[in-house]
Amino acid sequence: MTVATNPAYAGPNPKDYGLPDERELAAWIARSGYFPAFSPPTAASSSQTPAAYSPAVVPKAFPAAPLYTPELPVAPSASAATAGIPRVGEVSLSKIRADFPILAERVEGKQLVWLDNAATTQRPRQVIDRLVHYYEHENSNVHRGAHTLAARSTDAYEAAREKIARFLGAPGKDNIVFVRGTTEGINLVAQSFVKPNLQPGDEIILTVAEHHANIVPWQLIAEETGAVLRVAPVDDTGQIILPEYTRLFNKRTRFASFAQVSNALGTILPVEELIAIAHRFGVPTLVDGAQSVSHIPVNVTALDADFFVFSGHKIFGPTGIGAVYGKKALLEAAKPYQGGGNMIADVTFERTQYHEAPEKFEAGTGNIADAVGLGAAIDYVTSLGLPHTARYEHELLAYGTKELLKIPGLRLIGTATQKASVLSFILDGHSVEDVGQHLARAGIAVRAGHHCAQPILRRFGLEATVRPSLAFYNLPEEIDALAQALRQLTH
Ligand code: PMP
Repeated sequence: MTVATNPAYAGPNPKDYGLPDERELAAWIARSGYFPAFSPPTAASSSQTPAAYSPAVVPKAFPAAPLYTPELPVAPSASAATAGIPRVGEVSLSKIRADFPILAERVEGKQLVWLDNAATTQRPRQVIDRLVHYYEHENSNVHRGAHTLAARSTDAYEAAREKIARFLGAPGKDNIVFVRGTTEGINLVAQSFVKPNLQPGDEIILTVAEHHANIVPWQLIAEETGAVLRVAPVDDTGQIILPEYTRLFNKRTRFASFAQVSNALGTILPVEELIAIAHRFGVPTLVDGAQSVSHIPVNVTALDADFFVFSGHKIFGPTGIGAVYGKKALLEAAKPYQGGGNMIADVTFERTQYHEAPEKFEAGTGNIADAVGLGAAIDYVTSLGLPHTARYEHELLAYGTKELLKIPGLRLIGTATQKASVLSFILDGHSVEDVGQHLARAGIAVRAGHHCAQPILRRFGLEATVRPSLAFYNLPEEIDALAQALRQLTH
């Protein structure tokens, strides 16, 4: 297997393919997306000026709604639900937080501050209760058996599939395959759709910002087939360099796969453009939505996504469940890579006929209860409104950026103008592990390590960072607690 990082590769001239040149691409990217420019820091040092915080910046696609003002003190008591408490759309944060029992937990003798949302999110009572209801009233295997509980569990399972389809803007529920999560989803697409079409020397395009889950499955099939991985670079802010990405395409390109949001840096990649460019070359794509699906309203039809994958546990749902969206024609063309019960129409020892997608890819008994729980999580997020939660998180991220940049010796890693949720950093004179442990002792949960994304950290000359990551239930006060704990370390 060969990995070509490719800076010297003279690929096709974008103009030959009717593609925009570098300047036009920049304008194209500026026009896209829900998020306004993020006012990133300009210098990567302790003397960097804080990003200008501008509550007046309103994402253009969002309806007007009251903004919280970080300068206002946020009263900690639930009785202050009216004044000063941030709101997500019309709903106050105190009400939202009351839905998440674990947020009231005490750890190390302190109030838990959960800032590890990129690793996994917490579950609202509505999801927990739905799981209990399933096990108490509906539990049965699906699609077989003509009895009442089989009908209940099948209805609940298929209703969850329908909710996911609607949530992602898919044409229908047959576009949705249940899997264990993003990792299994990417492996499914690699093995079922891409590998059967690969010849030695064929090429797969990734970006350097990928999670290992969007690298290793492609390496595995490249090793087996003699295909080559080509890797699109990012600039010093952590944003993909579109002309470089474009230059990677050629006659041998068979597939491109990229994250919508980098888990290590928080960069929002311009996936609409990445897909459109790939399509100009006739190349299908996969979007890894693990880090985007809870932060950015996604519409796979508007994106013209070929495949889109995500994990339930990153969107307030259970672990061990996720979904692959695939265009119908591509799912039909793909070969199942696991065989067994549920996915077959007829079996003889000579030949097996498969069901159509999605069942074709769901061999064996699935994770029925957690699929139903994921449906409840999607109901929950939908009830708050992703445009509202995304907008609130954007404000919180801006506030967090401003506060962290006041800490002497703190360097933010990932300063793209388009970011979601993640505040990766290192602190002069302190190892990443020490910072993580110090924060843990203060009751603050963050990830400290390589975040399963070693290539992108190495792009910045690092092996690890500290990574607080936000969700809509986080408070400005929790950012303050983080900043205060970090200040203790630096003094
Ligand atoms: N891709 C990205 C961008 C991720 O952040 C993660 C999880 N950290 C994954 C893929 C893998 O997700 P899972 O472990 O749920 O399969």
